[in-house]
Amino acid sequence: MRNILVIEDSPLVLKILAHLFRQEPDLEPVFCASLAEAEVMLETSAGLFFAAIVDLHLPDAPDGESVDLVMRHRLPCIVLSGSYNEQRRDELLMKGVVDYVLKESQHSYEYAFRLLHRLDHNSHIKILIADDSNAQRRYIRHIIEPHHYQILEASDGRETLRLIAEQPDIDLLILDHSMPGVSGFDLVKLLRQKFKLNELIIIGVSADPKGSLSAQFIKHGADDFLRKPFCPEELNCRVMNTLERRDLLQALKKAAEYDALTGLRNRRSFYERGMRMIQQAQQSGQHLSVAMLDIDHFKHINDGFGHASGDSALVVFAKAFASAFPDTLIGRLGGEEFALLSPLDAADLSATIDSLRQRCATLYYANGAPPLSFSAGIYRGEAEDLESLLHEADQRLYQAKQSGRARTVLA
Ligand code: GH3
Ligand code: MG
Ligand code: MG
Repeated sequence: MRNILVIEDSPLVLKILAHLFRQEPDLEPVFCASLAEAEVMLETSAGLFFAAIVDLHLPDAPDGESVDLVMRHRLPCIVLSGSYNEQRRDELLMKGVVDYVLKESQHSYEYAFRLLHRLDHNSHIKILIADDSNAQRRYIRHIIEPHHYQILEASDGRETLRLIAEQPDIDLLILDHSMPGVSGFDLVKLLRQKFKLNELIIIGVSADPKGSLSAQFIKHGADDFLRKPFCPEELNCRVMNTLERRDLLQALKKAAEYDALTGLRNRRSFYERGMRMIQQAQQSGQHLSVAMLDIDHFKHINDGFGHASGDSALVVFAKAFASAFPDTLIGRLGGEEFALLSPLDAADLSATIDSLRQRCATLYYANGAPPLSFSAGIYRGEAEDLESLLHEADQRLYQAKQSGRARTVLA
């Protein structure tokens, strides 16, 4: 839960904000209607707040005094204003507020909430500023710092490459084009050989007036491009947009690879990983073991206790399966059928599956439902192709079902 201080006196704006906060279970607003009220609140409890949304004009603070108050308490500050003034906006941004939001429409208030969510994630985001000019690096750092990113700096191409090699978890690179040694443009080409689009975001920056440079940057793999001089707001918008696009891509990738109910790999991604493992095993002449596991009488659970209880059984089983085989390729192939591929020998695998079976029998998944039981088939052999390994294991699973269930059959 994050407490958000809201300093605002307009009943209409308060009504909209209260409505939006109701849709945000993780954000708890504390409303103050005047500077005086906010002063008392921050004096006693500044440490409890995550960020503040602040009206620029209040009856007892007509000239942004409420912003200064919040900044003095080092709280991330999102400013709301009824009127647009270019100079005022630049002053506020250079002062270090997170952003300046106009009280225009529902959309602008939603934007303020987007900012709050981003602030929450940003402390895990690493941004590297690569520029040979000290002053430019300082300027960029000053602009993005209020968004609470982790910020690193490099003053030439070589240092940029070194930092990225040392810290491959860097999320975003703001890259000046004209640096001595390796140019920004060449760095993009080098980096894109190593990092995919959703692994490292690159925003190119240059004072070069040629329009073709931005196109070149983007064609060779930069995510975006900014021409110097740029205003603080523009840089922050582009950083935020590229981060959101990356998060969306990652979420899509996850949805395509993992089963939504159990969180295990789905059939497609199990096969994809499995085929790679098989190729490696073939190269080293290694044998692989494959196991197929299938919950017993699962249809009875669905029919007798409802589909939701069936789902719950799947979730409980998947969790136990994953913790029994933490560093192993496992997946849900479909329905109540699961698989595993491992270099472990069949006897070791069988022993772990036996203890998983004992554990499952003790797990709760629905009121009054029978203990969770499953059958398994294990096959170990030369890694020819995944399909035939799975087929062999499936035959043994069939034998386990035929001979009474709740058991494992191995080769
Ligand atoms: P056996 O012991 O021989 O394996 O019998 P079984 O009842 O476990 O197997 P059967 O293949 O007859 O039934 C599997 C059922 O699983 C049929 C299907 O409706 C149900 N099922 C498949 N996917 C899901 C799911 O995601 N959730 C739930 N609740 N049921 C599912
Ligand atoms: Mg330069
Ligand atoms: Mg079954």
